Amino acid sequence: MKIFRSIKEIKEYLRPLQYGGKSIGFVPTMGYLHQGHLSLLEASVKENDITVLSIFVNPTQFAPTEDLDAYPRDEKRDLELAEKVGADIAFIPDVEEMYTNRLTTVSVAELTSGLCGRSRPTHFDGVTTVVTKLFNIVHPDRAYFGQKDAQQAIVLTKMVADLDMDVELKVCPIIREKDGLAMSSRNVYLNENEREEATTLRKSLVQAKEAFQNGETDSKVLKNLIINNIKKTSGTVDYVEIIDFKTLQEVEKIQGKTLIALAVKFTNARLIDNIILE
Ligand code: AMP
Repeated sequence: MKIFRSIKEIKEYLRPLQYGGKSIGFVPTMGYLHQGHLSLLEASVKENDITVLSIFVNPTQFAPTEDLDAYPRDEKRDLELAEKVGADIAFIPDVEEMYTNRLTTVSVAELTSGLCGRSRPTHFDGVTTVVTKLFNIVHPDRAYFGQKDAQQAIVLTKMVADLDMDVELKVCPIIREKDGLAMSSRNVYLNENEREEATTLRKSLVQAKEAFQNGETDSKVLKNLIINNIKKTSGTVDYVEIIDFKTLQEVEKIQGKTLIALAVKFTNARLIDNIILE
């Protein structure tokens, strides 16, 4: 696997390959890879000639009060895991390389104000700006994101459409631990008790989906079911929202494709999860 830390060098390496007709798959991450990330790399390896992984803990998507400095990192292990699943190139820039003298921000309106955007108001501008930069550096044919970050996937899909970007976004399924907890680099922050309690997120979402399948279409009822379950844990509900899949607007009655998304704060980790109702 080739490793690049310089924007100029990775561009110089990739462009002739692209002009020669090679397709590029791209998986942007913040590192500390787990099976969720690897599933995206595997999908890319299958569908493209060349797979590029980026590892960049992007400071602009963290608020000053958040866990930027504590974010887990293990570059050596990441590279071993990525190589094993067939990634060809790792792009690992530092903050200076990405952001010296930057004055430009890419911002998607409306879709970024609710859900995670409510408690993390600067987060999505950080995400859309860094992903735009990464797309301009890598020029991927396809880019792979996880359904785990459902709002992120919807915001980026809108950004790509609005800005006529020549990249196909692929949203891949959530990979979970055996007990249902969505894999996340932040799961290492949970203490033993919280780790056990964290299974409530998935269990509650499944319970709500079952209630929906048994005929319950009132969002309030489903929401309360989830909130009451989470209240039995030491976690604090950041949000539980039942929203239209495309517009991210809250719905009172569930009709078309609908997303239940939630975020729960434990001592040192804020966890998110979601489930689709159709
Ligand atoms: P991150 O390193 O957390 O920024 O995540 C990088 C990419 O991996 C994003 O597109 C995430 O949605 C995706 N991802 C993270 N966790 C999972 C998971 N458990 N299953 C599938 N994709 C995931």
